Amino acid sequence: MSIAVDTNPAESSSKAPKSICVLGSTGSVGTSTLDLVARDPGRFQIDALTANSNVDLLAKQARDFGARFAVVANPDKYQDLKDALAGSGVEAAAGADALNEAADRDSEFVMGAIVGAAGLQPTLTAAKRGACVALANKECLVSAGTVFLEAVKNAGATLLPVDSEHNAIFQVLETENHEAVEKIILTASGGPFRTWQKSRMEVATPAQAVAHPNWSMGAKISVDSATLMNKGLEVIEAYYLFGVEPNQLEVIVHPQSVIHSMVAYTDGSVLAQLGSPDMRIPIAHTMAWPERMATPSPRLDLAEVAQLTFEAPDLERFPALRLALAALQTGGAAPTLLNAANEVGVAAFLGEEVGFLDIAAIVEETMSRALSQGLDAAPANLEDVLMLDQAGRVIASELVAIRRT
Ligand code: NDP
Repeated sequence: MSIAVDTNPAESSSKAPKSICVLGSTGSVGTSTLDLVARDPGRFQIDALTANSNVDLLAKQARDFGARFAVVANPDKYQDLKDALAGSGVEAAAGADALNEAADRDSEFVMGAIVGAAGLQPTLTAAKRGACVALANKECLVSAGTVFLEAVKNAGATLLPVDSEHNAIFQVLETENHEAVEKIILTASGGPFRTWQKSRMEVATPAQAVAHPNWSMGAKISVDSATLMNKGLEVIEAYYLFGVEPNQLEVIVHPQSVIHSMVAYTDGSVLAQLGSPDMRIPIAHTMAWPERMATPSPRLDLAEVAQLTFEAPDLERFPALRLALAALQTGGAAPTLLNAANEVGVAAFLGEEVGFLDIAAIVEETMSRALSQGLDAAPANLEDVLMLDQAGRVIASELVAIRRT
């Protein structure tokens, strides 16, 4: 077994302000990252910020943080961004090439916080130039795990996990004792529908699905948390990050979201990382790594929490988790197709085109149709990933059209 997460403390502990690029600065992870920068301004310097279409917030952030480069992915928004940044000295740009350019500048630290496979190319660009990449965008690894990790390895990049579960594992994984790792246990809150029967889930609305009990997050990951696909994506992400076998990865539902994940060793010890459910904790861990920095996050009061409870995930009520675990076992093209189909299904659900239970059904049917079309080989390079991703989206979109409510 080998650990994929690279550690290079010497490079990361310099005292000069750390220059930062935030890919997806207008989102939930992006704004939390900038919140931390604002609290310790001498420690960081913002180089580049990117968004998809939220020009107003992007321009405000770029001005407030003295960014040098601001990119909006949607090319139709270029003029709006240029106007909003007039006289600020911040260079404005738009489109996919500009996103890659933001990632390719010389910032020391790149926060990969774009949602979905849309984040793959710019995050890969940052990895390929050997940057320190803090990865929130789990879809990158699910869609292109081997391709992404090869780029990290070849460039000598540093990859730090932002996802609270993976960050927890990173904090308690003894890399020098990797052979003694028995299993990795990812905790799941269970989402807003943890106790719901399927009949109730069938008529669940987007507003109900995004109302996560513990975490405040973007819409896509919130729906993924409601289906438990998020946990499935995280199991695949953990497989790539931590170099363990699929059968060494376990999921346990822990509704309080206090234990963020655990590593069990062959001597019977189980190490866990605990904290309040506030993404600024794992984000700060990556931003300051290998040091630590203060955060204003609510402190954990275990007496107030009083009880930590656990239950096995219900794969019958939450088939998305079953599908993701199966995709990891199948390997090859399966994780890329799973991710693409899920993105289409979630977008259709959020757009009220299909029902909540349709998301997993669309993923399952996409996987089986893709297989019957001979789409099973593991992607060997970025072009393969993009081809498979597109093929999965085409099939899933056809299924959405059939099911449209
Ligand atoms: P949000 O939806 O809140 O933000 C997404 C960001 O990506 C925004 O800046 C958005 O811009 C930008 N974006 C969206 N689509 C595109 C596109 N096609 N091209 C370029 N940029 C785009 O997402 P989150 O912050 O919640 O999540 C980001 C990633 O982090 C996801 O992969 C998620 O799974 C992961 N993650 C999130 C956690 C959380 O607590 N939120 C926890 C752990 C992982 P705009 O605002 O203009 O739309």
